[in-house]
Amino acid sequence: MTTSSETAVLDAVPTNLFIAGQWRPASGAARMDVEDPSTGEVIATVADASVSDALDALAAADAKQKQWAATPPRDRGEILRRAYELMIDRADDLALVMTLEMGKSLAESRAEIGYAAEFFRWFSEEAVRVAGRWSTAPNGATRLLTMKQPVGPCLFITPWNFPLAMGTRKIGPAIAAGCTMVVKPAPQTPLSMYALAALLADAGLPDGVLNVVTTSKTPAVVEPLVRDHRLRKLSFTGSTPVGRRLVEQSATQLLRVSMELGGNAPFLVFPDADLDAAVEGAMLAKMRNIGEACTAANRFLVHQSVAEEFATRLAGRMGALKLGRGTEEGVDVGPLVDGAARDKVGELVADAVDAGAKVLVGGSPVGERGYFYAPTVLTGVEPGARMLSEEIFGPVAPITTFHTDEEALAMANDTQFGLVAYVFTRDVSRALTVAEGLETGMVALNQGIVSNPAAPFGGVKHSGYGREGGVEGIEEYLETKYVGIAL
Ligand code: NAD
Repeated sequence: MTTSSETAVLDAVPTNLFIAGQWRPASGAARMDVEDPSTGEVIATVADASVSDALDALAAADAKQKQWAATPPRDRGEILRRAYELMIDRADDLALVMTLEMGKSLAESRAEIGYAAEFFRWFSEEAVRVAGRWSTAPNGATRLLTMKQPVGPCLFITPWNFPLAMGTRKIGPAIAAGCTMVVKPAPQTPLSMYALAALLADAGLPDGVLNVVTTSKTPAVVEPLVRDHRLRKLSFTGSTPVGRRLVEQSATQLLRVSMELGGNAPFLVFPDADLDAAVEGAMLAKMRNIGEACTAANRFLVHQSVAEEFATRLAGRMGALKLGRGTEEGVDVGPLVDGAARDKVGELVADAVDAGAKVLVGGSPVGERGYFYAPTVLTGVEPGARMLSEEIFGPVAPITTFHTDEEALAMANDTQFGLVAYVFTRDVSRALTVAEGLETGMVALNQGIVSNPAAPFGGVKHSGYGREGGVEGIEEYLETKYVGIAL
């Protein structure tokens, strides 16, 4: 049951569409439910947009584009800075909303809000550093002026697993670069994005720069936007099959596209690794966000000489975690986002166990209510097991072993995904050789977390393309124009 203080915080979140600075109901007053995944209870309803509502949002973004692009970069940066400060001030309420609609513990929600806010701080500083170039052409006669200009109206589609951070790392650079936008959050977690839209308005973001639409009819509502000539850029974070479909649709307008897609991260433990650090890193890489992260360690590849000790220690730590509703004191692990997510984890574990894997800890759903799955460690997972090639997106750590560095690298790269890899070794030469050989966009060396607003986040292969964060992050929202000048 939602408590009265939780209800008070939920009631303060706007639940209508946010278009051109107005909160307005969806056409036909359509609404959709938002559930608490720890109880299955409906905790709110939000507007359920139609195609025409979504096109109104795009029209608002398009109408504001010229004026926003002409706004001084310092002003855009200061709005982002204020938004950063408001996120920190409002972190407790934002965290409660996030936990209630997504499930993770309050501590994890607070951590996400800190991380999400950092994108606003980072890009508040980048807004005033956008610059082009002046050069002399090789023939000496012509001068070349290279300028950077905002791409134009953007569409952002975000997932439920990090309801704010996956938004701020698109919204932050877009605001800094001078782009307007339509944001479509995941239907499971719309409240966090509406709370953020209200916060950005409080920070002084002019009407129409950011528009938010929520819908239960996602493919039908999104496609006309993607194919609309007013849209210039699509940035998507979500699963690879949906990303592929959106890339196909984006061909109509030859949109600029960024794709942050699925992962299948290898976690490599070499024989010379600091095992304390490796186990600590494994806990973070596996259990952050209940394993529902594109960066989650999906395959533990451990040198056979240390595999048994690593597995026993990891199982001890995983087995000691406390499950429960994210709002409860001392809870480490919340529920998975819905019944389908929990069932998929169960299927992947059954598939591995049927082929001979051994369950060291966990291995089953927990409780009657909510979508809980026990933190699980498996050893002896056979190479053909589905969980080694599919994203688990849950609290399950499959451990397999290797004998040589070459074998480890070949196993790590034996996947269609290429987002991140974790490497634990104390040998600098081995670390750099392995880092060079990994087919991923990111490598975490002796640490269990890789995301950092000051660094370029993104993948290769079926994990997508484009980078979010770092100095690269704003480039995704800038066009390069050159002017040739005869003297
Ligand atoms: P999803 O692809 O089902 O949904 C993501 C978003 O796309 C949601 O807003 C959803 O409503 C929307 N969507 C769904 N079908 C669509 C369609 N046909 N057309 C347009 N939009 C559509 O993914 P999910 O289950 O919400 O999120 C989990 C996935 O996201 C995982 O694969 C995870 O690895 C990935 N992810 C990637 C990153 C990254 O940065 N690489 C970060 C977080 C999550």
